[in-house]
Amino acid sequence: MSQARIPPTSTADGDASDDRLLRSTVDALTQGFAVFDGNRCLQAWNERFFDLLDLPSDLRRRDLALADLFRSLAERGDFGPGNAEESAVRELERLFMPPDPAHFQLIPGGRVVERQLAPMTSGGFVVTLTDATDRRRAELQLLESEERYALASAGANDGLWDWNLATNRLYLSPRWKAMLALAEEDVGDEPSEWMDRVHPDDIERLSALLESHLGGHTPHFECEHRVRGTDDVYFWVVARGLAVRDGLGRATRIAGSLTDITDRKNQEARALHNALHDPLTQLPNRALFLDRVAQAMARARRAGKTSFAVLSLDLDRFKLVNDSLGHHRGDDLLIAVGARLTDLVGPGQTVARQGGDEFAVLIEEVAGPVEARALAERLLAELGKPLAVDGRQLVVTGSVGLTLYESAYERAEDMMRDAELAMYRAKSLGKARAELFHPSLHSHALHLLTLENDLRLAIGRKELLLFFQPVVSLKTGRIAGFESLVRWRHPRRGLLGPGEFITLAEETGLIGEIGAWVLEEACRCMRNWQGRYPSEPPLTVSVNLSIRQFNQIDLVTEIVETLARSGWRPGKLKLELTETALMQNATRAAHILTQLKAAGIGVSLDDFGTGYSSLSYLHALPFDTLKIDKAFVSGMSHERSKLEIVRAILLLAHNLKMDVVAEGVETIEQLAQLRALDCEYAQGYLFAPPLDAEAADKLLFESRKW
Ligand code: C2E
Ligand code: MG
Ligand code: MG
Repeated sequence: MSQARIPPTSTADGDASDDRLLRSTVDALTQGFAVFDGNRCLQAWNERFFDLLDLPSDLRRRDLALADLFRSLAERGDFGPGNAEESAVRELERLFMPPDPAHFQLIPGGRVVERQLAPMTSGGFVVTLTDATDRRRAELQLLESEERYALASAGANDGLWDWNLATNRLYLSPRWKAMLALAEEDVGDEPSEWMDRVHPDDIERLSALLESHLGGHTPHFECEHRVRGTDDVYFWVVARGLAVRDGLGRATRIAGSLTDITDRKNQEARALHNALHDPLTQLPNRALFLDRVAQAMARARRAGKTSFAVLSLDLDRFKLVNDSLGHHRGDDLLIAVGARLTDLVGPGQTVARQGGDEFAVLIEEVAGPVEARALAERLLAELGKPLAVDGRQLVVTGSVGLTLYESAYERAEDMMRDAELAMYRAKSLGKARAELFHPSLHSHALHLLTLENDLRLAIGRKELLLFFQPVVSLKTGRIAGFESLVRWRHPRRGLLGPGEFITLAEETGLIGEIGAWVLEEACRCMRNWQGRYPSEPPLTVSVNLSIRQFNQIDLVTEIVETLARSGWRPGKLKLELTETALMQNATRAAHILTQLKAAGIGVSLDDFGTGYSSLSYLHALPFDTLKIDKAFVSGMSHERSKLEIVRAILLLAHNLKMDVVAEGVETIEQLAQLRALDCEYAQGYLFAPPLDAEAADKLLFESRKW
């Protein structure tokens, strides 16, 4: 680069070295620099001045008129085509002279030159040129990306915001305000217009995220939060933003968008709700309940002393409601129970539906076992009051098991398991009661579990046996038939009676399989005996049906098919049902009995007198036989009332065209009394206990001689 043309300002020799210093300094500047006198003629300059303007070297001379300089620029066509030379010059002059904008842009190089003017007292002025091309390009890029962003945002229906941190003013776009249903004039430009509307639960997080980005710790700002719109309605929004920083990286401004995500959040909330709630009752489900228990455990562990209880409640005989009134009413009943429980325990406690007819309650802050039990009993008492379901008043009872938190519990599931164990205990102790968990229940449960497993295998291992107890005709004194009674030859515990496993079989559903086996085995044995010891009339066989079997949908079809397979005649099969089975669903009972009768199968009412003894349904149900329970028979000889009851039952049965079997006949005296009362049949140890198939066979063989 050639030397700056600085004319000597003084003739004094001592000043020459100063001039050189000045010249080299001026030449080293990155800025262009030129001095014009009052006649607008060039007096001094540095090469950078002409370089920046990209002007030829012949112009670089003293006294160059400013107008010539402009003309040269204009000739190059830097101001676009069609610009007359003189107007271009005038335009340039205007741009160069104060008070025009700082940007002096030259094309085509795309170079941006910024000029500054400093007037001198002589009338001349100093022009300084700075190359601002890079800065300008960056600004343009920013502008472009902002425009693109704004366009995208507007297209996406977003609101825009721009927060000037220097002035602390916040621009909120019309869309931003419209999104929250806020009127344009109601919202000023204070940052509080936004921040004060943020949900109290979200403000802390929002501030933290904002600060983190402004502090340069995150590449961008993004925060989902709730904002209060008009009428105090909260909207879910996501705010995104980017800070603009100065040369030192300090944020001077932050701008971005606001998107309404209320719909998405609502959907998410719904999905979450559904995942954690029971669809029928809308109560928390097992998963949510366990989570609450886990939280309570964590709190109790921290606090060290506050205790709480977990309560498991199962409705008694709910299946009955379902079977008799239909599933819809069953559902309504569950909803009503859930609502009642929620009302009873009050706010702050959790009532959950565990599935089926099982509920669970988490009771926070219980002083101890006495209070917990009192609470459970109060709950049961209230629950037992009639509930209006679909215009009917229904009474339900429940069995409750509860356990109190203690530090030995590690998992919520363990507390739940113990509460359930206690609930099963309450059920087995007669239902409609509350039981507190005790560790011994574990061993009891273990016992049941082992027994259940054994029972599952029993059928396959052929451990079940059928015993037969003869039913004797009191008119002829001969065996009229047998009652089949199941036994289980347990590998370790020996021969078990039905009392030890039928209830378990019912509870586990294994009764279906066992019942089918009993029926098949009874028919098989009878056909075998009828072939070997033919009798007229042929022998009958009674098979006991449990409640659970009675509720089986395809019961009649299955029985008819089994009979057909076995070749045993329907007329010689009698099914024994207890009063309890009938009482639970009289309509269904009538239906099934009619079907059985149509198939030619006989039906007996077992254990008459021990259940509800409601005589009213006896008319409605087509029984063939009534079996008087052994409790009456055994008391007959010494209790006058028992004898009168037996007499009344026989009278009633005969009027209804049923015959009667007296159960549990053990003495000659009982036999005589029954004969005198015209009882048709008897069964009991007096004649024979239940016999295994071999003994029954032997009895039949011998009875031929009778
Ligand atoms: P149940 O149907 O009333 O059967 C009569 C019960 O009385 C039998 O008890 C029988 O052994 C007993 N017994 C018979 N004669 C006398 C007597 O003179 N004195 C006394 N004290 N008892 C007598 P078991 O065999 O223990 O059966 C009990 C109950 O188990 C039966 O009562 C019946 O309800 C049920 N059960 C038996 N087998 C089956 C079966 O295969 N399926 C179903 N679902 N239940 C069965
Ligand atoms: Mg029976
Ligand atoms: Mg009986």
